[in-house]
Amino acid sequence: MAPVPSVNTPSPDTSPDSPASTVAPTPGVPESDPRAPHVVVVGGGPGGYEAALVARRLGARVTVVERQGLGGAAVLTDVVPSKTLIATAEWFTTAEQGPELGVRGDAPAGERRDLVDLKAVNARVLALADAQSRDIHARLEREGVAVVAGTGRLDGPSRVLVEDASGATTSLDADTVLLAVGATPRTLPTAVPDGERILTWTQLYRLTELPERLIVVGSGVTGAEFAGAYQALGSQVVLVSSRDRVLPGEDMDAAELLEGVFRSRGMTVMSRSRAASAERTADGVAVTLSDGRVVEGSHVLIAVGAVPSTTGLGLEEAGVRLSASGHVEVDRVSRTSVPGVYAAGDCTGVLPLASVAATQGRTAMAHALGDAVAPLKLGRVAANIFTAPEIATVGLSEAKLRERGYRYVTTTLPLARNPRAKMLSMRDGFVKLFAHPDAGVVLGGVVVAPRASELIFPITLAVAHRLTVDDVADSFTVYPSLSGSIAEAARVLHGQSGPNATD
Ligand SMILES: Cc1cc2nc3c(=O)[nH]c(=O)nc-3n(C[C@H](O)[C@H](O)[C@H](O)COP(=O)(O)OP(=O)(O)OC[C@H]3O[C@@H](n4cnc5c(N)ncnc54)[C@H](O)[C@@H]3O)c2cc1C
Repeated sequence: MAPVPSVNTPSPDTSPDSPASTVAPTPGVPESDPRAPHVVVVGGGPGGYEAALVARRLGARVTVVERQGLGGAAVLTDVVPSKTLIATAEWFTTAEQGPELGVRGDAPAGERRDLVDLKAVNARVLALADAQSRDIHARLEREGVAVVAGTGRLDGPSRVLVEDASGATTSLDADTVLLAVGATPRTLPTAVPDGERILTWTQLYRLTELPERLIVVGSGVTGAEFAGAYQALGSQVVLVSSRDRVLPGEDMDAAELLEGVFRSRGMTVMSRSRAASAERTADGVAVTLSDGRVVEGSHVLIAVGAVPSTTGLGLEEAGVRLSASGHVEVDRVSRTSVPGVYAAGDCTGVLPLASVAATQGRTAMAHALGDAVAPLKLGRVAANIFTAPEIATVGLSEAKLRERGYRYVTTTLPLARNPRAKMLSMRDGFVKLFAHPDAGVVLGGVVVAPRASELIFPITLAVAHRLTVDDVADSFTVYPSLSGSIAEAARVLHGQSGPNATD
């Protein structure tokens, strides 16, 4: 059998001209062998489409059932559209540095509204998402994957029934089924989205005018990303957080820094404030908090998490075990409780990232089709929050290290000390590393900086390959560069770990 190509990320390239996937194209599409095992993938997001390509590579006949559009929520409503919108917002964040760098003509936040053509911004966002979805569709067909439009559900463990838009049902017999049905925004019964003023993130791209005053309910990753982006575009933003601080669950120093940056840019951050309901008023919305306070705005974005799309899929009937939250229970090679049925991505609740969904899908196919399998290692996942500054993390977090009682040494270098950051007038950010006190092995890291998503990679390599702080410190970095702070942090830890350790 052909080896599975070593790929770690799903279609990160958002360009409409780009290849749809990071799985290398099959040279000369192999004819489908009618005796080959049939893999049916339900859901064509990163958890599904990457798996389909790998399964074809491994010689299977493959059918993808998709009800909305190839690329899934990742391409159509979540990753691609949000990062494309944020690209426009970033333009203003960069321009803020203009006066300090000697450039005249920055527009103060209050006056930016007039500069932003949200209709054009969102038209670009949607066109890009649509083009990427079509790219993925074309790529799958080119590789010999059958794509069936419709809603799939299990009819026992080895059959998938597909209902198309006309209500007609097709039956697909399967040797292996992969469930990659994703999740949809969680809504509150007391704040029903109307697509105009009360919105989920999937509805934001229909707006043609910038909200004057946007209330964002929920300060997790999605809430923080959109709050930051709309603030940069010129909306007044009120971020309603039920917790003590924004980004609960993320590195505490990073979250505190970001909250400070949000406030300094004029955002109202309401901590320990739980939204109870949202309703339309004559010319906007009113969000009532559980303590009775009322926050008024022009629009409200409800970003309070997601629910797995696992209802009505015939899972319980087929014996597929679900968790209390409705997620499909899987092991580290994506097996469900039923032999031959695998699951990947947000419907499993393992870690809601497109990269993790794709890895789970590929692992499932390798396992099902007899290729070498590497179980999912969550301790190596790199993630990024696309705020300004960005927050990128990899490996074990400080909270996890403490929770597990691990011994570790750590250091934090503020970005403000980095020469390149000074030249670029960047002040907000830091590099933080965690390492084992005896072996010096890098256990994890946090980078808070513009484009932290790019800067985290050397730390990811260190974590994945168990490099020591000395390995990192001994590698050349460009002078001056932001990545210089990563090597510098490793140098600081040299004295705290290994045979030189003083603690
Ligand atoms: C606003 C936002 C921004 C994000 N940004 C990032 C980011 O920058 N980086 C990152 O790594 N992750 C990001 N994520 C997370 C990422 O979007 C998800 O982890 C990823 O989409 C999960 O992929 P998936 O294949 O499991 O599901 P999805 O992408 O949701 O795809 C599931 C597909 O299954 C289809 N489907 C569902 N039920 C059926 C059925 N019964 N029959 C047929 N088809 C069905 C759906 O139509 C959908 O197309 C973001 C999430 C949000 C909400």
